[in-house]
Amino acid sequence: MKKMGIYTQIAVSMTCAAAIVGFLIEGYERRAEINRMNDDLLAQADLTVSLISGLMIEPIIVQDTPVLESAISEALSSNGKLLSLIIKNDSGGVIAQAERDGAADDAAFRRFKRDIIVEGEAFGVMEIDWSTAEGQALINSKVSRTRYIILIAIFTLSAVFLLQIHFLIMRPLRNIHERMSAAIAGQAHARRPIASFASHEFKALDRSVDVLQRSFSERDERERALEIERENSDRANKAKSDFLANMSHEIRTPMNGVIGMTELMLETELDEDQRMYAETISSSGSALLAIINDILNFSKIEAGKTVLEPAPFDLQATIGDVVTLLSAKTRESSVEVVLRYDPELPTVFEGDVGRLRQVLTNIVGNAVKFTLEGYVYVDVTGVKSPGHYDLEIKVADTGIGIPNDRIDQIFNAFEQVDSSRNRQFEGTGLGLAISSKLLVLMGGRITVKSEGERGSTFAIELPLHTAPEIPPSTNNITVPLRGLRVLVVDDLELNRKILSERLASWDMVSVLASSGAEALKILERTEEKFDLIIQDYQMPQMNGEELACRIRSLASYKDTPLIVLSSIDQAMSISIKSKYSPCELLLKPVQSKSLRAAIVQSLQVNPNKPRHVKLPNVLNNPTAPLKILVAEDNKTNQFIVKKMMANSSMSLTFADNGHEALKKFAEIRPDVVFMDVSMPEMDGLEATQAIRKLETEMTYQHCPIVAFTANALQEDEERCLDAGMDGFLSKPITKKALLATIQHWTAPQARAINS
Ligand code: ADP
Repeated sequence: MKKMGIYTQIAVSMTCAAAIVGFLIEGYERRAEINRMNDDLLAQADLTVSLISGLMIEPIIVQDTPVLESAISEALSSNGKLLSLIIKNDSGGVIAQAERDGAADDAAFRRFKRDIIVEGEAFGVMEIDWSTAEGQALINSKVSRTRYIILIAIFTLSAVFLLQIHFLIMRPLRNIHERMSAAIAGQAHARRPIASFASHEFKALDRSVDVLQRSFSERDERERALEIERENSDRANKAKSDFLANMSHEIRTPMNGVIGMTELMLETELDEDQRMYAETISSSGSALLAIINDILNFSKIEAGKTVLEPAPFDLQATIGDVVTLLSAKTRESSVEVVLRYDPELPTVFEGDVGRLRQVLTNIVGNAVKFTLEGYVYVDVTGVKSPGHYDLEIKVADTGIGIPNDRIDQIFNAFEQVDSSRNRQFEGTGLGLAISSKLLVLMGGRITVKSEGERGSTFAIELPLHTAPEIPPSTNNITVPLRGLRVLVVDDLELNRKILSERLASWDMVSVLASSGAEALKILERTEEKFDLIIQDYQMPQMNGEELACRIRSLASYKDTPLIVLSSIDQAMSISIKSKYSPCELLLKPVQSKSLRAAIVQSLQVNPNKPRHVKLPNVLNNPTAPLKILVAEDNKTNQFIVKKMMANSSMSLTFADNGHEALKKFAEIRPDVVFMDVSMPEMDGLEATQAIRKLETEMTYQHCPIVAFTANALQEDEERCLDAGMDGFLSKPITKKALLATIQHWTAPQARAINS
């Protein structure tokens, strides 16, 4: 329905009001006129009756019909409105009557009945019919005149009212509305002055619009300025990314020389000083490389170019791996890394395991780095929600702590609590910034609490969907663990708790002892034999080796399986293992998978122990020397690669640019091509495309082409893949990575050669 304008609305409502008022007034006037007419007629009837009865009293008394009828006829002829007249005697009989011609047709009349009374005595009744047609017509004309007057009055009033509304309300309103719309739309609007006679309310509104318009235009200006600023910062960001990519290239290329040469130098015979210098160069080079990687990583996240790759993964194993890796760093100190994974929590989740590992490595790495004595405790718990778990990974340490006034800043890039304090620890101040940004990307967050110098606790909150179980790969364990009795010996209560929880989850029964002496007491006292003993190695008073020896001296524990947990170097294990067999040694922190495997292993009586099968090693295969083509313009890099491969039996061919690479490819048909990306004349991408074209034309087999990239940005990797390459090696190249890459790309061929 089309919406009515204000004028139509007013007109319609005024018409309705006019109709109602007109109707009421008309009805009232009509009633008044009818009453007046009736009164007139009554007076006339009374007059007629008294006239006739005065003049004709005698004929009435004697009931002289002819005389009376002629008198009636005369009365009829003298008064046009008199329709008929009947005179009746006392007993109701008609004495005389007369009727005007055509009176029967006249529908509009009134009948009056009047007693004939002379000197107080009644002589009969007179009935008179008066025509009301004329009176009615008169009334109608009067009423319609009134109606016209009312209509004209209302019309005039409405017109005046509408004009007032138009000039006093609608025009100023429209004016204000137009300016307001123009202000909102950000268009300049020529100011039409509001009429001088407009009311002060509208003038006030008009002034408010002025204010609004000014603030809108200020806002627009600010937005424009912001937009320009954003464009500038986008440009600057792009420039920064380009700069970083270039710097990365520029730094990585000479770094390749430094690290590669040092690695080679370390393989030669060096005296003690020379070895120390070389190792310092090597570790400084690696540290510098880590910094460059951090900076690139951070700028990539900041530029919003990080894309998550979710897939099912084993959370428990991932955290276990991180903890195992990092606890290796604490071997020399007395710091212990302890992991507790809530046994109620599922282990397989869906998420970007690489990014999560990166975050965990940073947080647990920091805890390890900043803790000089005590422990680092990683506690993994979770709350079930529909379809997912709200995980909490707490990393608590007893390290140097974070002062309260700096705690908010440590998540900012390049922020370190105190650079002089931090000088004794390596780091860029980027790890936490990267971690917190990655967590936000994954829908989680990280918080930290610190109790002054008594350590800090980082809490990672992360919602993760559970995933269907990843099928266990090789460990198909058949030994039932249910109901087995285990003695757990560890001086640290936390460790005992975690172990007993883990064992309980496999339905094993554990008895806990906090020292070797207590353990021995339990063993001697308890009648029911234990099926297994799990013991710590580093304990005060009686250490693990001594305890193992004492256990074996007990008659009933001569061949009870022992599992010794140690955080010292594995070298120790060999002697313990053979001396106190059956004995398994595990490095702390123990992952539940390896603990279970060790338990099963120690319980299993397996005479046919699996022999270690030696895998075919292509690098040592003298029968089929692999042909490697290296396209690299930098002579130092060529030299390094040559040196790295010097002891292998592969045949190396070098090309200085893309053209040469293509030519040599056709000549020697290599097994693997290493291709530098930026080379003069024809770069690595073009050369790769040309090689792929050649392969198709000549129906050659696909040859793996691996890029040597100095720019570690993902775009570069994508560009390489798009050009037809199969993989990449980031500079600086290490011997290990180079050989592993060759092995990776030639493995199927190696098997074919050997079979
Ligand atoms: P860095 O590379 O310096 O470790 P991070 O971003 O990882 O950079 O950490 C920033 C700073 O926060 C650190 O330099 C350190 O001062 C402080 N910090 C982080 N973790 C801890 C911790 N577990 N204990 C004490 N201080 C910490």
